[in-house]
Amino acid sequence: MFIHTLQVVVPTPAHSSVAGPLSYQHDQALAPGTLVRVPLGQREVLGLVWDAAPAADPAPTAALRPVHSVLDGLAPLGPHWRALVAFTARYYQRSLGEVALAALPPQLRELSAEQLARRLRRVSSAPDAPANATQTIALSAEQERATAQIDAQKGPFLLFGSTGSGKTEVYLHCAARALAADPAAQVLVLVPEINLTPQLQERFGARFAPQYGAQAVVSLHSGMTNPQRLAAWLAVHSGRARIVLGTRMAIFASLPALALIVVDEEHDASYKQQEGARYSARDLALWRGRAEGAKVILGSATPSLESWHASSPEVGRYQRLDMPSRIGSAQGAGQLARLRLVDMAQQPRGAVFAPPLLAAITARVQRGEQCLVLLNRRGFAPVLHCHACGWKSDCPACSAHQVFHKSDRSLRCHHCGAAQRVPHACPACGNLDIAPVGRGTEQLEEQLAQLLRNVITPAGRAARVARIDADSTRAQGALQAQLAQVHAGEVDVLVGTQMVAKGHDFRRITLVAAVQPDSALFTSDFRAPERLFALLLQAAGRAGRDAAYLATQGHAPEMWVQTWHPEHPLFAALRRHDWPAFAAQQLAERRAAAMPPFAYQALVRADARTQEAAQAFLQGAAEAARTAQLPGLEQVFIYPPVPLAVQRVAHVERAQMLVESAERPALQRFLAAWQPLLHAERARHKGLQRWLVDVDPQGI
Ligand code: ADP
Ligand code: ZN
Ligand code: ZN
Repeated sequence: MFIHTLQVVVPTPAHSSVAGPLSYQHDQALAPGTLVRVPLGQREVLGLVWDAAPAADPAPTAALRPVHSVLDGLAPLGPHWRALVAFTARYYQRSLGEVALAALPPQLRELSAEQLARRLRRVSSAPDAPANATQTIALSAEQERATAQIDAQKGPFLLFGSTGSGKTEVYLHCAARALAADPAAQVLVLVPEINLTPQLQERFGARFAPQYGAQAVVSLHSGMTNPQRLAAWLAVHSGRARIVLGTRMAIFASLPALALIVVDEEHDASYKQQEGARYSARDLALWRGRAEGAKVILGSATPSLESWHASSPEVGRYQRLDMPSRIGSAQGAGQLARLRLVDMAQQPRGAVFAPPLLAAITARVQRGEQCLVLLNRRGFAPVLHCHACGWKSDCPACSAHQVFHKSDRSLRCHHCGAAQRVPHACPACGNLDIAPVGRGTEQLEEQLAQLLRNVITPAGRAARVARIDADSTRAQGALQAQLAQVHAGEVDVLVGTQMVAKGHDFRRITLVAAVQPDSALFTSDFRAPERLFALLLQAAGRAGRDAAYLATQGHAPEMWVQTWHPEHPLFAALRRHDWPAFAAQQLAERRAAAMPPFAYQALVRADARTQEAAQAFLQGAAEAARTAQLPGLEQVFIYPPVPLAVQRVAHVERAQMLVESAERPALQRFLAAWQPLLHAERARHKGLQRWLVDVDPQGI
């Protein structure tokens, strides 16, 4: 019998010494990309046959362990997919095995060859709907111009379109063009939130199912069960699914005929993975598009400053397409929300809602319109406080307060999850009078219900207030049910966190209010103003989306902002819905301070029992880099280690060290050379629990 040596990628822990593929033997040569089951230590694991190393393999020896089984029946993962995985591992400084296996649906890891064969039979026997003509909408002039440019040019494109300007319609059009041009072509559409995929699925399904069958549109996101995910993944990998809608993880879908990638709300922070390989799905989409010759459309009303800069005439790496007008604005309706800035210094002391805002909400509810009230903090109050002795509801495990949740009378830490019942008296002095300080969405909901209790809607019923946040939507299906209530008009005022500010197409909301956005104006994170502006503009975009409805109501949608700093330049730009002006001002500051996008960053994070131990590791790593004179070092600046903003979580002390360079290749060269030194340094610090590198970090 002839023996072949195969290179197989196996699931390796992030920082194991095994970085590359392992050698196994098998009686047949297997194509790269083939899935196999192989022994690893005492276990049997899923592995992926990898391209043989360029150097000649040593002669097969009896010492090599054999491949246990081959998941044949599944076409090998293609060279494009393997290149994407290899790039991700390299760029984000993780092991190939970790990235490759994490990019596959979890259930694949558990299935035997026979079980998988059964799944495949089930997938391929599913019937397809008959082909029908698809109905399309006549595009607006701005949409026409944008789609014509996308058709004619190479991209990548930054579709800069106001909320409600019809960006989704552009995606649909371009997807239709791509599918029609090639009977195998596939389209990948990324969205930031799981809860936005059902809406989008409906829209894409309605457009494409008649022509391509109900199976042609699939979703891929972490809210699906493992069997659902596997079925969808197989449909995509086999080429039967033509359109994939998904969250960031879908960037790793195996799409054999990828023709178009859309990244909707490209500025959204959720495109950055925050565990394992900390990849940016947006950035990988651009890489993937280039590598596979697929067009890439990034869409946003508030693009990331990185993308905005890349699409500037000065840089010109992306093509910017403008769609400034809302659909319907030609008819005088469909306008963008008017900003109403409330100076809180002029309001009665302690007022949660300024009287004019409350009056405006009341008037809208009385006319049967809906309002959206935003507060980016869940729970009833961020802290409980004893006025007698100064006790605060601190989390014993974290450098943070435990949040007071009134609905279940609990104190909960939003960092480590520790929860306990609210004490009846101050645990320190026994004082019975412990009071909540500050407010969260739960309290807003309660106060609004109280304030609006006598307000009657045109339907003749009392005003209803509802809340949507991570707490109210914990149960499976709860969010969909709550959104359905809003859409059905059963809710008059919706209180929520940023969760409800994005993407939703609420038809009857005409007023949006941000009651307490100030904290984001003055944090140490240099991206905070950018995020706040984007959030407020997105939120404003929830108001007045239905031009016909607005016309019948006969007045403009409004965005109210309560602030102690009405003179802040951010609000002046927000008043004009002027993202370009705001972006120009922010970019000037970033350029002056040599911050992204004018610099490239990586963070090294360390977790340890003590802050000293965490920082000692980082310090040691920096010194090792300098001692070794690593390549790229002369173009890289290593900052001193500092504690994280929330320094301690679940009894773990956390520190970080920023590494920065004006040149991305220099930073990449440096990080690659540094990796083995970081491993070696780790062995020298017994107290260290964990370390990681975050390339292009989103939060500093
Ligand atoms: P965006 O994604 O930019 O927020 P959408 O694509 O969701 O905007 O469009 C906003 C609304 O306008 C939707 O209800 C959509 O159906 C409608 N719409 C979009 N394009 C057109 C068009 N060309 N003609 C009529 N209605 C349109
Ligand atoms: Zn006390
Ligand atoms: Zn905690």
